Amino acid sequence: MKTIGVYIHIPFCKRKCPYCDFYSVSHSASAGDDRILDDYTELLCQRLKEDGERLSCQADTLYFGGGTPSLLGAERLCRILRQAKESFGLSDAEITLEVNPEKRDLDFDRLRQEGFNRISIGLQSANDNELQALGRLHSVSDAEFCITRARQAGFENLSLDLMIAVPRQTRESLLHSIHFCALQEVTHISAYLLKIEPGTPFDRMKDRLLLCDDDEQAERYLLTVETLQRLGYQQYEISNFARPGFEGRHNLHYWHDEEYLGYGPSAHSFLNGQRFFYDRSMESYRRDIRISDGTGGDEEEYLLLALRLREGVTEERFFRRFGYPIPRRYYQRAIPFQKAGYLSSDSHGIRLTPKGFLVSNTIISTLLTP
Ligand code: SF4
Repeated sequence: MKTIGVYIHIPFCKRKCPYCDFYSVSHSASAGDDRILDDYTELLCQRLKEDGERLSCQADTLYFGGGTPSLLGAERLCRILRQAKESFGLSDAEITLEVNPEKRDLDFDRLRQEGFNRISIGLQSANDNELQALGRLHSVSDAEFCITRARQAGFENLSLDLMIAVPRQTRESLLHSIHFCALQEVTHISAYLLKIEPGTPFDRMKDRLLLCDDDEQAERYLLTVETLQRLGYQQYEISNFARPGFEGRHNLHYWHDEEYLGYGPSAHSFLNGQRFFYDRSMESYRRDIRISDGTGGDEEEYLLLALRLREGVTEERFFRRFGYPIPRRYYQRAIPFQKAGYLSSDSHGIRLTPKGFLVSNTIISTLLTP
């Protein structure tokens, strides 16, 4: 029986953050809106049940992302988890829930009892003035409260999200955020450069945001990598850092070009060699309109994804996947980047350096198509 990852998208947020391009709709806590959450929970359970009966798959990771999954509340989340277990087993699985710190009444005890074992908290910054500039609804003390509550409930595997090069941030305030994360002794940190997404409020007001230039962004990224490394967080992907043994197993499915199923509007899937996704519309999801995205899993796609990892493309994994060594042409195309310090290669494979990660798109596309 094949083993996959399962992603569940919860497309609701209390309020849209002005930089965000993920698919989600604003949700207020009125009675009518609660029915929307109930209906969506039922719809997800029904889809999970159908797939459990139709497909012969086990899952070893389940990831609730969004949107704001914590907005569903513990009971609905546990109901979905129970159905996912019935459909995909999930024995010894990593089961992650994304949580936004403003939800102070989330029942972590209930979540832990049901089997959730990893919490990913949207901290973004440990400076209140930056959180305000980002339009976030929580404060630093909300985040501290959230971490404490999760720990008290028995969650040992905690991840924090951090944003780099946000409005009002300085190198000093970035360092403060990084040290805040390390002081919380979390197992995992995701650190992303702010990207101005077309069509978002930040895109419309970008000239007034006083953002730092590309060189300064690069400096801050490298500062983040070095500092986290010094604090015991190994970089294992462009934006992800972990204590040894706590790398996020779910996202590793994506970067190893392995198969997964996505539930909810805007969710993508890769199953039996086929890629498909749902549109950014609740109505399309309700009507189960899947959009084909062609085939996946070939050599080039594998390289494209694996080069996001610090270990890069390894001879061992590549051989296990394709039954032949990494073709020599990729090593040859890598030489100029290696000389410039963007990449390293040896008998174990090819990998980008932190400096190379900053221009990964250019390097990867040159390696694939000279
Ligand atoms: S809470 Fe997260 S998903 Fe929702 S709008 Fe903000 S950044 Fe986007």
